[in-house]
Amino acid sequence: MQTGPLTFDTHEMGRRPGTEKSFTREVPAPADLGLDVLTVPEGSPIALEVRLECVMEGVLVTGSASATVEGECVRCLNEIEFPLDVRFQELYVYGEPDEDELALEDEILDLDPVLRDAVVLELPQNPLCSQDCPGLCIECGARLADDPDHTHGPAIDPRWSALTELTERPEE
Ligand SMILES: [Zn+2]
Ligand SMILES: [Zn+2]
Repeated sequence: MQTGPLTFDTHEMGRRPGTEKSFTREVPAPADLGLDVLTVPEGSPIALEVRLECVMEGVLVTGSASATVEGECVRCLNEIEFPLDVRFQELYVYGEPDEDELALEDEILDLDPVLRDAVVLELPQNPLCSQDCPGLCIECGARLADDPDHTHGPAIDPRWSALTELTERPEE
């Protein structure tokens, strides 16, 4: 079992039910934390508060993580950045895990999968730069938030504009 910023050693806890241990850590975000469009950038700081508690079947981990998420607004594609706070609680069993269970490996608890699930669950499906983001102009793609009074004249059919040119041509 490889140890790293997201692993917690439970050896000292000796599998004694009721034994608790708390950790406060700042860890660099692992790669690919989040979704395609919305991620916690790799290496950016995550503030972790973790409490481990030995129970009969294994070690119960309870905690929270605070990070900064970056991505783009789904309406106007502006870059956005916002704080994300997630909470989690999960049991890591001793011995062989059943399907959908997590296990300790050599008494080491690897928080990585729990952190990933918690972050993905908490991310908004349709992130916006602001709740009332007006999006982009359907005609020219301008950001309407930057230019709210933005208008285009009535659309002119190119065939008519050729005629207009003809009729507007001054008489010689
Ligand atoms: Zn926007
Ligand atoms: Zn426009």
